[in-house]
Amino acid sequence: MLKSEQKPEIVWPTALMLSITALVALISVPWYQLTIGFEWTHWLAFFLFAASNGLAITAGYHRLWAHNAYKAHPILRLLLALFGAASFQNSILVWSSQHRRHHRFVDDNDKDPYSANRGLWFSHIGWLLRKYPNGRDDFSNAKDLQRDKIVMWQHKYYYLIALMMNFLPPLIMGVLTGDYLAYFLLMGVLRLVYSHHTTFLVNSLAHAWGRRPYTNENTARDNGFVSLLTYGEGYHNYHHIFQNDYRNGVRWFQYDPTKWLIKACSWVGLSYDLRSTPKFKIRQAMVARQLELTRDKLTNQTLLNTIKQRIGAIEYANWMATIEKQIESEHQQLTELLDEWKCTHSLWMTAKREKIAEARQSMQTSLDLHNLKQKLKDLEYSVVQQYRRVSYVNGVLA
Ligand SMILES: [Zn+2]
Ligand SMILES: [Zn+2]
Repeated sequence: MLKSEQKPEIVWPTALMLSITALVALISVPWYQLTIGFEWTHWLAFFLFAASNGLAITAGYHRLWAHNAYKAHPILRLLLALFGAASFQNSILVWSSQHRRHHRFVDDNDKDPYSANRGLWFSHIGWLLRKYPNGRDDFSNAKDLQRDKIVMWQHKYYYLIALMMNFLPPLIMGVLTGDYLAYFLLMGVLRLVYSHHTTFLVNSLAHAWGRRPYTNENTARDNGFVSLLTYGEGYHNYHHIFQNDYRNGVRWFQYDPTKWLIKACSWVGLSYDLRSTPKFKIRQAMVARQLELTRDKLTNQTLLNTIKQRIGAIEYANWMATIEKQIESEHQQLTELLDEWKCTHSLWMTAKREKIAEARQSMQTSLDLHNLKQKLKDLEYSVVQQYRRVSYVNGVLA
């Protein structure tokens, strides 16, 4: 840990903006509620404006610009750039280039701008408050964004756009209703503080608390609570392994409004070329993780001693031999399934391209496509079955 005199210089505009808005929200909002009282319409405006800011960050800054997870019509890109600026989290160019470094160097204290290994405070807000070397502007990883006219326009006039997008909506509501102060406090200040800290939770809490069903190669976690506050961004373990997927909450029961918005926009042509990870690859990662967890348990001497005492030494030796054999065989099967899937998937992609290029062969290629699609489905089914088997073995070792 650096001593205070060695710490980088404080970024005063950011530090003052974050602390003053938080103080005003913490003191003035309860004061207004207790003395005058907010109406439901004030809260509705707060939630709608907060959601438009939050979704512009998650669907725009994050999934569209930082990860190219889909393509968007200029109208949608303009709206995402405007409402994203209202969140006062820097321009798309700065935000996305920092975020790409976060993914590339995740948990590296010298290269990840908000490395979770430097603690909760640093990854939540501390990284913004001082001029740390790993947080400096470096757009060498964002050449594609520098060719995007909307991104560069927003970057050039960022402060003007951000100020207008923060002050105009509450002012318009004030002019329409006469409730200037109520809208300023809820839609203006509280919404900004809420937007900041909920987004920051993805870098802090979603790297410290939650499950790791897909990978343990980094600190990212799947956290349903963070997802509730961040329009689906809490499924961060999935996101760090399949970062170009337009979905974060990939299971049907997971709450991911950002995914729903991007999908709904595709129905009216506002978004297209949505990228998603094949189901087989997702399940294969889950099986590999379960095998890893099971192997870890088989090296846990305390757990093994408990089982030995429970079932007796002779039974234990048989049980251990069986379980080790099964894990080895499951590992082998997973490797073979993956090889077969890669081969079938590549043939299926070729057949799809051929069908588009050569209409004359479409009868034959349609048949090939149908057979290959069926084979891919069979492989998916096999890996799902394997996941159930390995999870069961892992569960038995509780
Ligand atoms: Zn992360
Ligand atoms: Zn990301």
